[in-house]
Amino acid sequence: MPTYTAPTQDLQFVLHEVLKVAQSDVPGYGELDADFTGAVLEEAGKLASDVLAPLNVVGDRQGCTLENGIVRTPAGFRDAYDLMKAGGWLGLGCDPEYGGQGMPHVIGTAVSEIFVSANLALNIYQSLTHGAYAAIRAHASDELKSTFLPKMVEGTWTGTMNLTEPQCGTDLGLVRTKAEPRDDGSFMVSGQKIFISAGDHDLSENIIHLVLAKIPGGPEGIKGVSLFIVPKFLVNGDGSLGARNGVSVGSIEEKMGIHGNATCVLNYDDATGYLVGKAHNGIRAMFTMMNEARLSVGLQGYALAAAAYQNAAIYASERLQGRDVTGAKNPDGPADPLIVHPDIRRSLMDQKSFVEGARAFTLWGASLIDRARKNGDTDADGLISLLTPVIKGFQTDKGFEMAIQAQQVFGGHGYIEEQGMSQFARDVRITQIYEGANGVQALDLVGRKLGQDGGKHVMAFFGLVTDFIRDNKGDEALSADFLAPLKVASKDLQAAAMYFMAEGVKNPNNALAGSTDFMHLFGHVCLGLMWAQMAKAAGDALSSGAGDQDFYRTKIATGRYYMARQLPATAMHLARIKSGADTVMALAAQDF
Ligand SMILES: Cc1cc2nc3c(=O)[nH]c(=O)nc-3n(C[C@H](O)[C@H](O)[C@H](O)COP(=O)(O)OP(=O)(O)OC[C@H]3O[C@@H](n4cnc5c(N)ncnc54)[C@H](O)[C@@H]3O)c2cc1C
Repeated sequence: MPTYTAPTQDLQFVLHEVLKVAQSDVPGYGELDADFTGAVLEEAGKLASDVLAPLNVVGDRQGCTLENGIVRTPAGFRDAYDLMKAGGWLGLGCDPEYGGQGMPHVIGTAVSEIFVSANLALNIYQSLTHGAYAAIRAHASDELKSTFLPKMVEGTWTGTMNLTEPQCGTDLGLVRTKAEPRDDGSFMVSGQKIFISAGDHDLSENIIHLVLAKIPGGPEGIKGVSLFIVPKFLVNGDGSLGARNGVSVGSIEEKMGIHGNATCVLNYDDATGYLVGKAHNGIRAMFTMMNEARLSVGLQGYALAAAAYQNAAIYASERLQGRDVTGAKNPDGPADPLIVHPDIRRSLMDQKSFVEGARAFTLWGASLIDRARKNGDTDADGLISLLTPVIKGFQTDKGFEMAIQAQQVFGGHGYIEEQGMSQFARDVRITQIYEGANGVQALDLVGRKLGQDGGKHVMAFFGLVTDFIRDNKGDEALSADFLAPLKVASKDLQAAAMYFMAEGVKNPNNALAGSTDFMHLFGHVCLGLMWAQMAKAAGDALSSGAGDQDFYRTKIATGRYYMARQLPATAMHLARIKSGADTVMALAAQDF
């Protein structure tokens, strides 16, 4: 069975030596000294290794069941959820006004990686609650906030997000669920939602569904969509639970992975709902939830690759097959361990260099969110808005690829369920699809985010790269291995952006045919920047002679690999982008 050990040393390195959180001017960061974050991560790591990770395979095998309209989660999930609740983990980043601990997003993100790596299916219950909390807090009335948020922050009630309907996926203007106004100010919600994660379960006393629906007589399409709170149980004036609301589970989906999370068909039959924010403004409110959720799905992509990689690295050191071509490393044994073979090393280096780069990118993204929220920094807000589809799309595409590579290290044993490696590949696959399929993330990046505010944010990103290269050009240790390849990759990204600006207007297909390549090109440059920053931090630590010198040497060697073996992919992506839409659109629809 797979094991899991939290990467606390690496998380601490990113927090304190790369992002230098404790020295930052973001309110609340002053308390994040290394002792404090170390203690938090250690505790999270223990819970993850001892409780959550052993349940991961149980969740996969047992799945969720629906009996007489009641959904039951796999054995042990309820106890594990209660432990997370009792430990205060569920409200870590939430507002103290509603009972949360008010910790910065950056530390919540580091903890989240640990929990997601250990057990994604269980973690989805709380991550959707957090998304629902964010939308209610940002858009609902004070009365709704005080009714629903404290119990959600505590974990006594959980949340869901109801967008999808059979005919309505990416195109949310196609929503058919109806919300008719009642005299008392509430609404009567009717319709069917499908694929609702954590749609029903036995972990919490109540479930607060956030539902997109249309008020009859409103504008057509997306402009007519509103957002409603529809609780599973109605809530009495004194906060106690009242009657069952008109929402029921039609079925739970049989699916490829995340079996421990109940993906439900939910039927709304004249259910009582409460409008969140203004009528016909539902998409704006839902986007608060979706942006947050997209970042956490981007985290899921690399967190599962991280867990898979750990197990692949252990297996490669233990499994004996073949001999080292340069001379036996285990001469007394029947064969050498897999790890002696260069192709296995390549695979492990691909995985390790992606995971550590993505970890730094995600934590940097979380720090931008803190800066935007706590310092009111609109530049940080614009930058994270630009980077959100990159974090979601690139990291989940790569996360899947790396989970497959980890499985490959196990050969045939990786394909056999007993080893647990197939579960990582099956579980991580959903991250490429939900919260907006990755093709749509690429569309968002190229069609909306690139030109947002006159291209100001992409220019700011280029400025960060250029400044880093300029400020460190005298550093010989960085120059050839990190700064030079970063410069080349960043020029590829700029050339691609220029191509879209010039060609996209003439023929939008030229831009859209290259959108996925652009998202990947952008992702590589971001990870290249992260590796250059990490190499600098590790180099400084090596010069000082302090700390774990082997860790820093390993860090720099891993970064060199990324710059030499992964970053050159930017040239390929640029070439594809510049080939335009002609070959992509050459066939008529009937030729497929
Ligand atoms: C396990 C699971 C859990 C889920 N959880 C939830 C949940 O909690 N709440 C919820 O509301 N939904 C949930 N979903 C639904 C999920 O978000 C949708 O499946 C997803 O957004 C895509 O919608 P769709 O399946 O209808 O695909 P479609 O919208 O039909 O898209 C099909 C393909 O076409 C591409 N595509 C669509 N439009 C365009 C375009 N304009 N340009 C280019 N490409 C395009 C997409 O990228 C995709 O690859 C879940 C789904 C699954 C499988």
